[in-house]
Amino acid sequence: MDQQTRILVAGGDTLLGAALLRRLHGQGYHQLLGLPPREPDWTDAEQVDNFFLRERPEYVFLTGGPSGGIEENRRYPADLMVENLQVAVNVIPAAFRHGIRKLLYVGSSCCYPKSAPQPLRVEYLLTGPLEPTNLAYASAKLAGLTLCRAYRQQYDAPFITTITANLFGPDDDFHPESGHVISGLMRRMHRAKVRAEPHVVIWGSGRPTRDFLYVDDAADACIFLMRHYNSEEPINVGSGTERSILETARTIAEVVGYRGRLLCDPNRPDGMPRRLLDSSPLFDLGWRPRTDFRTALAATYEWFLHQQMTEEPYVALAV
Ligand code: GDP
Repeated sequence: MDQQTRILVAGGDTLLGAALLRRLHGQGYHQLLGLPPREPDWTDAEQVDNFFLRERPEYVFLTGGPSGGIEENRRYPADLMVENLQVAVNVIPAAFRHGIRKLLYVGSSCCYPKSAPQPLRVEYLLTGPLEPTNLAYASAKLAGLTLCRAYRQQYDAPFITTITANLFGPDDDFHPESGHVISGLMRRMHRAKVRAEPHVVIWGSGRPTRDFLYVDDAADACIFLMRHYNSEEPINVGSGTERSILETARTIAEVVGYRGRLLCDPNRPDGMPRRLLDSSPLFDLGWRPRTDFRTALAATYEWFLHQQMTEEPYVALAV
């Protein structure tokens, strides 16, 4: 990739897609195609094909398709599955037909079996049942990973795949119901601080663990892999560190400045009990995350506060 390269981030309005665009722009790439809000609808095959024909991307980061936290997955499994399948079956074959130079497809750590040994190594994929709370979404993402591998096997297509940890950062979905745990808790703790509420509820037991990665680091890893990785195996993109939900909630409370009590609600699902990616293959290639967890949370909170001041919908959210 040189600075004249025509690059497409399919899904530039997603958490990771937006971070990728920021970073690519910062690194001097100025042929960034289909920037939001001018992206086509990636679930529409005709729009996707026309876009490839017209814009002729050379490198494609495929981050598109909706995602959400544990509650969003419980409420909308069909929509999440259909749209992610559509994005995969539209963009991946179009990238092949139009002869792009390389594609990177972004999978998710929920693709791993619920009871796989930890840390999660890519050879554990498809070795056991998935966690029921994200079965539909994970099945669609597994289909995307498998489709890339199939194109490599059948046509020697230059397609690589990653599995990312739990991402967070600027541009995250801060809605208290649909968002992931960090953005959801950050918003609820902020509101509780402003209203001097005595406690905040943490969903589930607080015991599950997750591998949290700041989205700017994840974007950096994806660009690194686009340059340096070319194998059929997916590659994990994580922080190398595992944190419990309760310990994470305590750190968010410190960053937000909320001093009330944190109460666990066991009536809410825990989801996967443990999730730590084995990112050693990526680290062995020479990449490491740069942002320490607390610094990343502070940057995320700053973005959220700024957003609150400038965007009416966040102020209006009353949940
Ligand atoms: P997951 O990593 O795919 O399971 O998705 P989430 O990021 O939504 O949830 C991670 C863990 O955080 C689960 O164990 C949730 O029960 C727990 N959790 C605690 N409080 C919250 C919250 O306010 N929002 C969300 N989304 N999850 C929460």
